[in-house]
Amino acid sequence: MTSPYQERQKAYKRNYFQQNKEYFYIYKALKYLGQKALIFKLLGNKCAMCGCTDKRVLQIDHINGGGLKEKRNIGDCRERYRYILKKIQNGSKEYQLLCANCNWIKRWKNKEGNEGSKYMHKFKEFSNFKWYKILKDEGWVA
Ligand SMILES: [Zn+2]
Repeated sequence: MTSPYQERQKAYKRNYFQQNKEYFYIYKALKYLGQKALIFKLLGNKCAMCGCTDKRVLQIDHINGGGLKEKRNIGDCRERYRYILKKIQNGSKEYQLLCANCNWIKRWKNKEGNEGSKYMHKFKEFSNFKWYKILKDEGWVA
């Protein structure tokens, strides 16, 4: 049971939020990006592979993989930066910055999240297939 007082308080809070919605959203976005900026700073503000410093293409990379599993564990993606920032501040060496290009190259090399490259070592067994010949001709497979 809620008392009339609690009801009034709830209504007041709801009303206050409605009237200041934009303020809260802006604050949230600011905090979210601020956390990202701090993470970037702590990770050196540049791609660990090629040294690119363009923040628009830099991404937080899990050095040993496991990004998807972590995403699932955290659930709320807005909590992600807070979670990662805390870990880095506590001395975690699990993260690095990679530019989008280097990240894709790493994924390709590590066969992460790409079905095609995951089975690439088996492609040779299909060397009679048209698609294998195309991949070979185009330099996608050795
Ligand atoms: Zn790079």
